[in-house]
Amino acid sequence: MTLPVVTLGLKRPLDIEVTGVTQTFWSGLAEGQFLLPRCSQCSRLSFPPRKVCPGCHHRDFTWVKASGRATLYSLTRIHNSPPRYNLLSPTSVAIIDLDEGIRLLTRLLPDDRPPVIGAACELVITRHPDGMHYAARPAARL
Ligand SMILES: [Zn+2]
Repeated sequence: MTLPVVTLGLKRPLDIEVTGVTQTFWSGLAEGQFLLPRCSQCSRLSFPPRKVCPGCHHRDFTWVKASGRATLYSLTRIHNSPPRYNLLSPTSVAIIDLDEGIRLLTRLLPDDRPPVIGAACELVITRHPDGMHYAARPAARL
């Protein structure tokens, strides 16, 4: 299963440097998947990708597809962002808890419903002129 893709006309919110540690993650995004590294030693999931496991310092990982399901933990609205982000202001930045147990900082895409702390949200892949990124949005209505 792949995550929904939302096309945005703006460049990605950050300059992305793809390294040997992050290559698999960014390749996964390009294929519609949000991949989480799982430590081969202690099985802990972590994010962002890094060279060593934050739990046991092991250096080997496998990759697990995130479901995309999450809960809105917190958010803030930014009205006067740094110049790099001006085209995106105002924007909402959220902390979400993925169902896999990862707490993640990400943009919260606008929706016709006001965001509610504790409500279900979902990860989406965002397509930009300079590549892929990710964001969250309120979960689809049932
Ligand atoms: Zn570990």
